[in-house]
Amino acid sequence: MKDLATFLELFPEEVLAKAIDLGFPEEALRAYYGVNLFSWLHSRLEKDPRKFSDLPKAFREFLSPHFDDGPFTEVRHITASDGAKKYAFRCKDGAWIESVYIPAGKRRTVCLSTQVGCRWGCRFCYTGKMGFVRNLSTAEILEQAYEIIRREGKITHLVYMGMGEPLDNYEAVLRSIRMLNHPKGQNIGIRRMTISTVGIIPAIERLMAERLQVNLAVSLHSALPEVRAELVPAERAYPLKRLVPLLQRYYALTHRQITFEYVVIPDVNDDMRSARALARLVRGWDCKINLIPQNIPSASSRERKDIKQRTHSFYRRLLSLGITKVTIRFSRALDVGGACGLLGSKMVAGPP
Ligand code: SF4
Repeated sequence: MKDLATFLELFPEEVLAKAIDLGFPEEALRAYYGVNLFSWLHSRLEKDPRKFSDLPKAFREFLSPHFDDGPFTEVRHITASDGAKKYAFRCKDGAWIESVYIPAGKRRTVCLSTQVGCRWGCRFCYTGKMGFVRNLSTAEILEQAYEIIRREGKITHLVYMGMGEPLDNYEAVLRSIRMLNHPKGQNIGIRRMTISTVGIIPAIERLMAERLQVNLAVSLHSALPEVRAELVPAERAYPLKRLVPLLQRYYALTHRQITFEYVVIPDVNDDMRSARALARLVRGWDCKINLIPQNIPSASSRERKDIKQRTHSFYRRLLSLGITKVTIRFSRALDVGGACGLLGSKMVAGPP
């Protein structure tokens, strides 16, 4: 059995136990083997154990038959007119997943997928239309970032905002966060990582117990429960009246400001009543709102202009209600289907 994926998912101390499991003599192992192997895989991003030059030849030869090229059989990418790139990876079971690389000045962000499909079916989301297929493994999550780093160079920020609900794949996502943060790996600060969620309450409670300073971005899209339930079906399972107090506790504990993502959908969630409800929800505590003009791939330029104008009007409504921590976020990679809600729309990848 090929074990690159397995080794990639192991912290240095776990590597040794795995090597013993696979038959390497325990008395010949040294603690530094685990640290060095981790560093080759996660910092230098080398997949061929024959090149792990600071490990003894006997250990490298032992490892070789257990390694292959990683969890993907094909990598494609397409560059958007704004310089962002959408990447598509074919997994060993044939499933395609997508990530987005977003350069902006010194900031280099990668948006990662965590599942094939998603069970939540948010109304404006292409991934949601696929239904849930499966969770990604830790290796599949990590290698999206690593394949992009191999091609684009170091990255500074990570957002778990691609295909899937990250908190439905809790173990693999948390393991990938800790590995990407590891000083012997990419050493990306946890405060530079963001998990985007519809608000899975038990998972957020669990995350609080981890005491990690990871940022949370919550897909809100309406502060009116009946409207939100139409847009984000998770509202029925995890209603705002329970979610918001929990997020306030998350903020108090981690001091990481919560971001509410709000896709502005004309005539659905951009009226004055919606603005008032949103103002009530955010007033009096430290959180911010990202307004995102709805992305409709088939929209004409006139329709796009109209959506932008409606987003600006909604923004002004919020300002008039005294809400100032609000920004309009124009999606990147829109023309290649890499923008919010468009991953899985098969503009790069997918079965023919
Ligand atoms: S927006 Fe997120 S949670 Fe909702 S269907 Fe899409 S991937 Fe799933």
